[in-house]
Amino acid sequence: MFLKRIELSGFKSFANKTVIQFDQPLTGIVGPNGCGKSNITDAIRWVLGEQSAKALRSGQSLGDIIFAGSESKKAVNMARATLVFDNTQKIFDSPYDEIEITRQISRGASEISNYINKTPCRLKDIQDLVMDTGLGRDSLSIISQGNISSFADAKPEERRLLFEEAAGVAKYKKRKRVSLAKLENVKNNLDRVQDLIDTHKDQVDVLEEQAKDAIKYIEAKEELASIEISVLAIRIGELKEQELAIRQDLEQLNYQLIQQNAAGQRADDELETLSKRILELDGQLARMQREKSQCMEESMQLQKQKAILDERRKNLLSSEDEQARRQSLIELFGEAKFEYEDRRNRLNQAIVSLQGKEQQLSRARNELQGYDSRRQLLQNELHHLENELAGIESRIAHPPYRNHGVQAVMKNQDRLAGIHGLVSELLECDDEYLSAITTALSSASEQIVVDNEGCARAAINWLKRSQSGRATFLPLSVCKARTLADWQQEIAKQSAGILGVASDFVRCLDVYEPLKMRLLGSILVARDLECANDAARKLKQSVKIVTLGGDVVHAGGAMTGGSMRQQSNPIPALKKEKARLEEAIQQKRFDLQDMQEKIAGITREVEQFTNEVMQSRIEKEKLDNFVQVKREKYQSLQLQISQLDLSAKENEETRNRANAQNGLIARLSELHQRMDEIEGELTRLSAQKQECSQRSSELNDLLRTSRREQNALSSTIQQKELELARIETRLEQNLSRLSADYALTYEAALEQKKEVDVDAADSRIKTLRKTLSSLGNVNLAAPDQLKEIKEKYEFLVSQKEELEQASKQILEAVDEMDQTMTVQFEEMFNRINDCLDEVFKAMFGGGKAKLVLCDPNDLLNTGVDVDVQPPGKAVKNMSTFSGGEKALIAISVLFAILKARTVPLCIFDEVEAALDQANVERFAKYLSNFKDQSQFITVTHRPGTMEQCDTLYGVTMQQDGVSQVLKVMLKDATEMSK
Ligand code: ATP
Repeated sequence: MFLKRIELSGFKSFANKTVIQFDQPLTGIVGPNGCGKSNITDAIRWVLGEQSAKALRSGQSLGDIIFAGSESKKAVNMARATLVFDNTQKIFDSPYDEIEITRQISRGASEISNYINKTPCRLKDIQDLVMDTGLGRDSLSIISQGNISSFADAKPEERRLLFEEAAGVAKYKKRKRVSLAKLENVKNNLDRVQDLIDTHKDQVDVLEEQAKDAIKYIEAKEELASIEISVLAIRIGELKEQELAIRQDLEQLNYQLIQQNAAGQRADDELETLSKRILELDGQLARMQREKSQCMEESMQLQKQKAILDERRKNLLSSEDEQARRQSLIELFGEAKFEYEDRRNRLNQAIVSLQGKEQQLSRARNELQGYDSRRQLLQNELHHLENELAGIESRIAHPPYRNHGVQAVMKNQDRLAGIHGLVSELLECDDEYLSAITTALSSASEQIVVDNEGCARAAINWLKRSQSGRATFLPLSVCKARTLADWQQEIAKQSAGILGVASDFVRCLDVYEPLKMRLLGSILVARDLECANDAARKLKQSVKIVTLGGDVVHAGGAMTGGSMRQQSNPIPALKKEKARLEEAIQQKRFDLQDMQEKIAGITREVEQFTNEVMQSRIEKEKLDNFVQVKREKYQSLQLQISQLDLSAKENEETRNRANAQNGLIARLSELHQRMDEIEGELTRLSAQKQECSQRSSELNDLLRTSRREQNALSSTIQQKELELARIETRLEQNLSRLSADYALTYEAALEQKKEVDVDAADSRIKTLRKTLSSLGNVNLAAPDQLKEIKEKYEFLVSQKEELEQASKQILEAVDEMDQTMTVQFEEMFNRINDCLDEVFKAMFGGGKAKLVLCDPNDLLNTGVDVDVQPPGKAVKNMSTFSGGEKALIAISVLFAILKARTVPLCIFDEVEAALDQANVERFAKYLSNFKDQSQFITVTHRPGTMEQCDTLYGVTMQQDGVSQVLKVMLKDATEMSK
């Protein structure tokens, strides 16, 4: 049998598990009213996919199909129904020979569980499986009394459904409905997509314009950035050079000003000393003058006394008195002797004084000569140092590199782009680390640092073209810092004699930090080779270590050492030598100035001593004359005396007079001598004063000049400072511009700098700025937004095309379905129509019947009428027939359909209820004709039908409200249905 078994549990009145087995083609289900017979057909409907609570007679909701309980039996929580089909005929499109469909609902659960062959599935899977078999909820498989009784009164369009079902077009109708729903959906989607396309198109149009502006803006901005960064870098470079030059000038000028101030101060001090000295000299001169006046006054009085004495002596000499004459002569002789000796002594003193002064002069002259030689020497040394400095400067300007290629590149660095210099020129260290760092750098010292790889390539090409040799280039752009690992640093810190990482001892500009770290960041510096070996062991020979003496322990353990060869690059040493020479030159200039001041001082002394010697010589000459005159007088008197009689005794009076005379003369002589001394002193002091005055005047001139120069220097310094401030401001402005507009430091800008003509660049910058401002507010996100929107727009257009395509395909499918339905409907209609007349005649015992299409031109929608004429009746209008006749007409149509089309399973639920006994029997007999082609399960009260059944199941319901099923004999069945 096609339907082999029904299993019910908790379904409606079938509270307990109930199994109904179908072994014969025609099974009758009998029982009294309300025992639960129709619940079995409800179960079949539900399992085959019926969802409607109304169709299942399930009250408010599907949950009501679960056994609700009775007076004696508790409600259950789950209803389950299973249909087991034989599929050996492959009525179901499934490879399995048996199909078991189960549905199960739990109380309170929102969903129904579905299974095909015990495998969970969707309701749709069951519906799809069932649809093509002719079973299904709307199929001909389950015909109820209601179906039969409403057939005759149904509208032709409603009646058509039965024929559609028979024609098997229901599935196409359903598919068409689904397709049309899909089409509707597609159309809705199409409308929505079209709306979106329109909106996106507007946005695309707007964004295209904005994107054009944005691209123009970005291009202008990028070009502006590129040019302006280069211009700013060039300007900053120039300003830095100017700043440096001005600072150097200022340093020089300030030094000169300090020198001038110091010279002025010295002149001031000297002037003060000189004015004190002049005051002192004035005092001395005044004192001398006073003393001179006193001496002169005394001398004049003594002269007067002497004149009286001389008068008296003259009288005595001419007197007759021999004694008196003799006495006078003796007095004169005594006087002459005194004067002569006095003048001679004074001459001797003058000679001694002259000699002393001449010695002083000679000493001063010698000293001057010595100083002059020293000055000459200093001058020569200064020249020598200056020559040496010029030589060093020239060597720095044109360094003698060992490598020919390096030499060529460095000489031509102005014509090559991005050349920074030799590694050894860009890194600096203190002298004590020079050997260590030179060793650490090794051959890298002579590598040429360049901006980037492009610059290196350009320089190498130039070397090739000009056949100027080879050189190694180190592009800054690829310099990555190398550092020691943490564990290496830790061990290095703890190792005795490790002074640090080589890069710690090297100074450089910020821009060369990566270079420094790449070359020296992973090399250690040790005090000596022993410490280096010790540390290398601890570091497992993983690090290169250099010593202060220039020895190396390489990573891996190899060692290099010995005496240092000459440095490959002399520039650092030359720069040091230059600094040393500049310092030495400065010192020499100081010494020379000092010497010149000393020479000036000693020259003044020589002049002073020369004057004094001259003075002393004049004095001596004067005394020489005096001595000559006095000697002659003395000798003449001596001669006269020798001719006198010297035996006569000088009287007391003569002796007294002579003594008096000698005292006066001695005093006079003393006074003259003193006055001479005073005169000499006055001359000397006056000369000194004059010299001081002259020096004061010179110093005043010098001071005036110095002040003028100081003023000039101050004003130049002021101007330079103003210029420096201006340059610093411009530098600051340009640097802020770089930082604010481009977030770049000067060093970073240098890396991006291109060679540009600044004037042309300025004009281009102006043009670009104009372009940018003319663009106004630009939506810079527009290109991205456009891309995004365009992608969406294109996606929508493709979606639209897909939807149009889908719509077309659906329409084509619908057309195809319409055609199939039309053909199948017409064919089935005709076949049923062909069978109907025969069935009608058999059912009614004559008469005639035929099906009529309401609108033969619209086979898809036309209603179906039944044109019948029972035997002996002329009535054709269906509504005028009795209920039994209407049922018999419906049953005739049903049998005509069963004839025209094989149905695997047919369940009749009291379809013959309205027929009289004779017609029931006729119905039942006719039904048995179909047993070979279909399986029938008929719920019935009618014995006529029961008689034709192969198997009868009786359904009972006891007091507990639970249905039970058992096989019964016809007799019992008839009994049960009463
Ligand atoms: P008739 O011959 O009058 O058509 P029948 O044998 O076809 O009657 P059914 O309509 O199949 O009877 O069954 C109706 C019976 O099933 C009623 O007694 C009803 O109370 C019972 N019933 C229906 N649903 C449930 C349920 N959820 N729980 C318990 N009993 C139920």
